[in-house]
Amino acid sequence: MQNPQPSEQISLNIIAKVNSPYKEKFAIPRQPGLVSAAKGTITLLNDVNTADTVRGLEQFSHIWLLFIFHGTQEQGWKALVRPPRLGGNKKLGVLATRSTFRPNPIGMSVVKLDGIGYDNNQVCLNISGLDLLDGTPIIDIKPYVPYSDSIEHAQAGFAQTSPQDNYMVSFKESAERNLQQYQQQQPELSKLITQVLAQDPRPAYKKNKEDKNIYGIRLYDFNIRWHLISACHIEVIEVSLY
Ligand code: SAH
Repeated sequence: MQNPQPSEQISLNIIAKVNSPYKEKFAIPRQPGLVSAAKGTITLLNDVNTADTVRGLEQFSHIWLLFIFHGTQEQGWKALVRPPRLGGNKKLGVLATRSTFRPNPIGMSVVKLDGIGYDNNQVCLNISGLDLLDGTPIIDIKPYVPYSDSIEHAQAGFAQTSPQDNYMVSFKESAERNLQQYQQQQPELSKLITQVLAQDPRPAYKKNKEDKNIYGIRLYDFNIRWHLISACHIEVIEVSLY
């Protein structure tokens, strides 16, 4: 790809950072809102960190986050990508997808705004339903405005409806015991694990094939080990602290 001219470049400031239960890319849902039990916080930075910048925002139930795909930005981009929704074997133009590998590594997500906290001169937004990696840099925050942002009867090509994966998730007795141990520290951990695994986080090409692997995902500081016990049934084997 040709390099842009200086007049075609801009620089932006990071205005906030995300604190998320998702500490690695594997198992992050493919869009926001799919895992409501995922809760995170946004910490405002520098000049933006004042109560003034968010005055009135509490009146909105949802907000837009514009952010940098910092975990993948160094991998660059290609004009054609393979969306997981199409099984990972059909190519589409990058601008026709929500791929993370874009000409500018900018993502956008609507998340639920659960509240705004002020603590020791630090403004924090409590959010849920996020699909963001821990430490994600935010470049803008805007209120979600349903009358204009939600379009009835809009056409959405290959992504018309939310993914149909809805795996059954159960916990081995030993995993249940592990969870009880962490109940106070993380009361909603089992709900979060269930919602995350119900999406089947495995790569698209693994679907509908026999799979004897044991997988690990990281949520908060927990290592969750699980496997498939039948076509659409995932079992959690162990929950332990890292
Ligand atoms: N809602 C956003 C993101 C969709 S892609 C948009 O449409 O622009 C969702 C994927 O982004 C997740 O599965 C996760 O793996 C990836 N992701 C989230 N935060 C990221 C980050 N900071 N860096 C790289 N990838 C990230």
